[in-house]
Amino acid sequence: MTSGQQLLRSRPIEHYDVVVIGAGVSGMYALHHFRQMGLSVRVYDGASDVGGTWWYNRYPGARVDGPGSPFYCYTFSDELMNEWDWAETQSEQSAVLDYLEHVADRFDLRRDIQFETWVQDARYDEAAQRWTVETGTGVRATAPFLICAVGALSTANMPDIPGIHDFAGECYHTGRWPHEPVSFEGKRVAVIGTGSSGIQSIPEIAKEAAHVTVLQRTPQYAFPAGNRPIPPEEMAEARAKWEAIKGTMLANIGGFPSDMPSRSALEDTPEQREALYEELWQVGGFRFFLGLYNDIATSEKANETLADFVRAKIRETVRDPETARKLMPDHFVMTKRPILEDGYFEAYNRDNVTLVDLREDPIERFTPTGVVTRSGEHPIDMLVLATGFDAISGSMLRLNPKGRGGMSLKGRWQDRFHNYVGMTIAGFPNLFMIHGPGSPGVFYNMPLGAERQMEWIGNLMRHMRERGMGAVEPTTESEEAWGNEVSGIANATLFPRTDSWWTGANIPGKPRYFSAYMGGSIYYMRLSDVAAKDYAGFAFEPAHDAEAEQAS
Ligand SMILES: Cc1cc2nc3c(=O)[nH]c(=O)nc-3n(C[C@H](O)[C@H](O)[C@H](O)COP(=O)(O)OP(=O)(O)OC[C@H]3O[C@@H](n4cnc5c(N)ncnc54)[C@H](O)[C@@H]3O)c2cc1C
Repeated sequence: MTSGQQLLRSRPIEHYDVVVIGAGVSGMYALHHFRQMGLSVRVYDGASDVGGTWWYNRYPGARVDGPGSPFYCYTFSDELMNEWDWAETQSEQSAVLDYLEHVADRFDLRRDIQFETWVQDARYDEAAQRWTVETGTGVRATAPFLICAVGALSTANMPDIPGIHDFAGECYHTGRWPHEPVSFEGKRVAVIGTGSSGIQSIPEIAKEAAHVTVLQRTPQYAFPAGNRPIPPEEMAEARAKWEAIKGTMLANIGGFPSDMPSRSALEDTPEQREALYEELWQVGGFRFFLGLYNDIATSEKANETLADFVRAKIRETVRDPETARKLMPDHFVMTKRPILEDGYFEAYNRDNVTLVDLREDPIERFTPTGVVTRSGEHPIDMLVLATGFDAISGSMLRLNPKGRGGMSLKGRWQDRFHNYVGMTIAGFPNLFMIHGPGSPGVFYNMPLGAERQMEWIGNLMRHMRERGMGAVEPTTESEEAWGNEVSGIANATLFPRTDSWWTGANIPGKPRYFSAYMGGSIYYMRLSDVAAKDYAGFAFEPAHDAEAEQAS
């Protein structure tokens, strides 16, 4: 041990009821919720302020691309809803961050959050029934409960391409965008990746850059963002109907303010389908998906009708037939994260945008001044990595907590992300994941999902306190049954049949399977059911201090 490490070790250890890792949407709510329960809570985040996703993703064009504002927000406080005005339906990153900063001020959250503090180790002490976390800044803290709000889209995926570190120009990952303005003016920019971040940023970069070379591995279906201002009367109406809207969100499968679609695409004639798709296309936004038929994600035939419609739209928009051909997606539509775009396909009509189809013309290497594909070198001044995240499980694995007997999560999760109810792991008592594998996570309106998970965890904590229990963890049998349930639901859809970050296909060596619980509203019914059955599937251990008291 170095003297620096010795010095850090000599710091007093801090004790709390709950330690939360992450101060994004989920961690912020965790702090508020557990504080309301009268517990002492400490939050750590590697970032310099609140916001998580919205603190990091400052790339040009970054916007809410789920069901728009005012429904991407917390629902726990009516006052919050009443006092916050959203300006646009697809709020830009800075607007969401403003909102989260307001929440932090409003509920005085920052006093219990330690920023710029990465948790580097989390270990369960079986005798004490407590977790101990150690941070890069030398803090050591213990708590019986550990909440991992570490983010489903937080660990940036850095591509490993020969020579990439030799590239001497500017290089930015969209999920780690600088806080200072980035100028593209007069620059030749290459963008790797055409997922949500790439498709949002490419048209914005093209407006300023001398040239943009898009390096595309997979062509994508993308839908009009349909962003528009929210007039004051519309905000007033949303407030007036907030109770009813919340009810609809809780009942909807994805936590969205919409009724469930009830018709099959195959019940309609081709003309009727075309008319519906066209109508939704003109409205745009997430409303497009919410207004669709109920079998787009389950029937190949129904799926093909929408895929054809979007492909025709791309052909109609992109003037150069060869570029349009390269942009033609061939997977089942909606089986990769649906993308909302604003000027993406039009960008290819500009003289300063070139598309390289990496399936025909793969990257061979980077040089200090450019990127070499099979067809030759593309000189560039800047590289933008829109390469996404080691999603869903990546941030948990980076944390790599150690459970009973020092067992590491990396060891436990070698073949599958074993879990029960999407929050708990056998051998890791009192540890709870938010939006982790086995939960609806990214398939749900995530602020609402975080609130619902935290409420369930809080109730479980109360249950334990009332019964003198010190530790809870699932049995491996319940994990297995849960895993089968998750896979059973997914396998009834087309989702697992497409390579995507949902299936782990973007990360070499990652277990390849669809790990999210499709069907959020069913998931929350299942959580209620587990709780109502005295937390069936869990094993409880009496509190050791209570045992000691009884013995004395
Ligand atoms: C560009 C983009 C757009 C999105 N748009 C939408 C949308 O429209 N609708 C929607 O529902 N969702 C959207 N999402 C998903 C978004 O991630 C969630 O909505 C939500 O913000 C997640 O909040 P979180 O707190 O769970 O995780 P995050 O916001 O990712 O926060 C996790 C935090 O944990 C911290 N952390 C992780 N590990 C450690 C550690 N070991 N030590 C210390 N700190 C740690 C990170 O620094 C981070 O701040 C989007 C995501 C992206 C990337």
